[in-house]
Amino acid sequence: MYCAVTKPNIKDLNREELESWLMGRREAPFRASQIQKWLFQKGATSFSEMTNLPVELRNALEEEFSISRPAILTRREARDGTIKFLFGLSDSLSIESVLIPERERLALCISTQAGCGFGCAFCATAQMGLKRNLRASEILDQILESRRSLSPDSRITHVVLMGMGEPLANYPQTLRALRIMTDSDTGLAISPRRITLSTVGLVPQIKKLVEETQVNLAISLHAATDDLRSKLLPVNRKYPLAELIECCRSLPIPKRRRITFEYTLLGGVNDSPEDARRLARLLSGLRCKINLIPVNPFPGSAFQRPAPAEVERFRETLCAKGYQVNIRVPRGDDIEAACGQLHGEQNVMAGRPSRLAAAG
Ligand code: SAH
Repeated sequence: MYCAVTKPNIKDLNREELESWLMGRREAPFRASQIQKWLFQKGATSFSEMTNLPVELRNALEEEFSISRPAILTRREARDGTIKFLFGLSDSLSIESVLIPERERLALCISTQAGCGFGCAFCATAQMGLKRNLRASEILDQILESRRSLSPDSRITHVVLMGMGEPLANYPQTLRALRIMTDSDTGLAISPRRITLSTVGLVPQIKKLVEETQVNLAISLHAATDDLRSKLLPVNRKYPLAELIECCRSLPIPKRRRITFEYTLLGGVNDSPEDARRLARLLSGLRCKINLIPVNPFPGSAFQRPAPAEVERFRETLCAKGYQVNIRVPRGDDIEAACGQLHGEQNVMAGRPSRLAAAG
């Protein structure tokens, strides 16, 4: 008997890898498509369900691979309909995903790492530190398991890689997951136009991502001077603003698409009219959208949300310079599901307090 946890998860293999495994066993390579359709389109959770495969092949797959799944530890619904899932991974770490209904859209915000090592000053996930990178299967399972829990008439229309972790610091597994997400033949068939990846600003990986995929790019900016940005986002010391913005200007992004810049508004820190004018100058000539996110508080955080009038003034300053600006309304903040509030609360409940909980 094999122990399930030691067998590789079949959802971590891409189609080419499955094909070569099949060919090594003198099986037809087209079986790889059948297997992937079962996994990603029909949501199979066992090889015995794969009734169009010969029984011997099903048995061989069973011996070689697992189809392990994360456990849904909690599913909490906020007053505004936002749903936060806490998933338990096989090594007892936990990660969060957030389903955000909005008019005709249903967006799922997924995690790419357990914890995060970038130490952004205003983010709850940063307080945990990096536990580990997620595997492609663990990134995809957040979509598969959330989808499974929905009523048959609702569909996830958009995916945003804005949950726990820095997707570009886990580039190979994130790319592998994106390939399966966007594969319209045997994968999840989500259009890359409906996928947005948010990054803290890792310049070399941004260039690679734009070369290798068609997904939308969002960049966490949060400050328009190096001095302030380095205080808020320590990664700025490695990739300072000039280099990051130059990279954005040189990206081969199609005319109709735009980079999104995220700017979390921190009362009294980066929200003055002068900050808005500096931001406008920094981005001048770039085809972009700006998302303003009034900071979401979490226990132990020192930052304050600016008054609505300040937020509006910031927006107007940018609009007057011709920018397209959205103010992101906090979603699910009563269940700590909003931007920057994810911290894998199971760690706290399991009596292993995160640094955040210990400090709070
Ligand atoms: N690591 C990626 C994606 C995760 S966070 C990144 O940095 O882009 C998604 C967005 O939420 C980022 O723009 C992040 O800076 C922002 N954010 C983090 N903490 C926040 C908070 N407390 N309030 C509002 N936005 C926050």
